[in-house]
Amino acid sequence: MKFSDSRRRVLRSLAGMAAAGSLVGQASGSGSLPLPASSLTRVADRYVHPRKVLLWESTRKEIRELIESGRLKAAIIPTGSTEQHNEHLAMIHDTASAVLVAQQAALQLYPHVIVAPPVAVGISPYWMERKGTLTLRPETFLALVLDIGESLRGHGIRNILIVNGHGGNDKPLKSQIARWREKLGVNIDACSYWEAYTASEEAKEATRKCMQTGLEKVPGHSGEFETSIALAAFPERVHREGVDYDKAKLDLRDPEDAKNDREFYYDSLLASSEKGEVLIRLAVDWVAAKVRSMIASTPGSG
Ligand SMILES: [Zn+2]
Repeated sequence: MKFSDSRRRVLRSLAGMAAAGSLVGQASGSGSLPLPASSLTRVADRYVHPRKVLLWESTRKEIRELIESGRLKAAIIPTGSTEQHNEHLAMIHDTASAVLVAQQAALQLYPHVIVAPPVAVGISPYWMERKGTLTLRPETFLALVLDIGESLRGHGIRNILIVNGHGGNDKPLKSQIARWREKLGVNIDACSYWEAYTASEEAKEATRKCMQTGLEKVPGHSGEFETSIALAAFPERVHREGVDYDKAKLDLRDPEDAKNDREFYYDSLLASSEKGEVLIRLAVDWVAAKVRSMIASTPGSG
């Protein structure tokens, strides 16, 4: 299958999901949620025009008018990394997957949610032995996220969800939430999108069915899970050509680390775009529900 066909297929299926789901919002004068499901297909179709929810692709006129209309209720800040993803995945994977989930979730709640530009370098010191990895000091990373949150607050946004796609960012982000809530005076929260897979018994079951390497390998690193997501959403970032794992000069000093690295590579051979579609759908629905409940819990913004 051509890459473009595969991408179209996953976007179509996500659009279909939005059309059928109960989480989808639509433009309304009052901006209240939940909203009727009458013109959901029309909303879902707008996926092909991603400017609709991406702050950095919008003009100041569009953002100003959206704020003035009272319809903008929340923002998502995606956080990821630029780090080694084994022999076959692009370094941007964590950032790209966080943006994908954030954007799809925002589209389900269109036009009430905007996606801020991603923080594309994360806290990855433990991968520095592998060439190409970039890392920020935790204080640099956290200061960057906080400043983006403060900017959004400055425009009157009162609900901010950080949607994280890189394991090393998870704990540092969560350790700051109470402090940031206090400091910014807004409803700010953080999650890693893979929390979706253990959020309910149904989600666990659906994930187990889909992952041959099991729930414990979610999110894993460049294994079946991440490679499946890439194959479904951005297959042009999966590069199998010329890869011969056992001949690669990796020089990893820690034998346990080397063993895991090899294991994840071979796990990745079990990946498929079909699995990726299921995994993306679960994450998008879960994040959209989270943003929706944040909006509902903020007096005057629901
Ligand atoms: Zn990753």
